[in-house]
Amino acid sequence: MARSFVVQQHQATTLHYDFRLEVGGVLRSWAVPKGPSMDPAEKRLAVEVEDHSLAHGAFEGPTGRGGVIIWDRGSYEPLDAPFADALDRGKASFRLHGEKLHGAFTLVRTGGSERKPQWLLIKQRDDEADGTGPVAERPESVVSGKTLDEVQRS
Ligand code: MN
Repeated sequence: MARSFVVQQHQATTLHYDFRLEVGGVLRSWAVPKGPSMDPAEKRLAVEVEDHSLAHGAFEGPTGRGGVIIWDRGSYEPLDAPFADALDRGKASFRLHGEKLHGAFTLVRTGGSERKPQWLLIKQRDDEADGTGPVAERPESVVSGKTLDEVQRS
């Protein structure tokens, strides 16, 4: 069963990427300061944050202090089952079918506090893995084609 994922680039106090996976009717969410990488050697810090509604994943626009763009979205296949249990145990793999992100990834919890658990988002080695950096090379929204700067000025 295909479920949705979305990555929103978000300028708030700091710039980050909100990585969200649809699980059980909500979006499980992680703030990734550097954004996802397609390079398995680039393990990206992902700080777990509160669940968000599915509707939140469709938001793009200016906010009071910054803005949000939908940087990537698509579907994903869980590679662990039950997927919610795998997340609760602190290690879950999944295959993304986005416009920029493709292939298998793993989220693994490494520590942090109970309120702000820290994870790593890691590209698995597969045919989709490569050294390109979609964060740098494809900064635009997959919905509007606008950059975050353009959305904030609108
Ligand atoms: Mn955010």
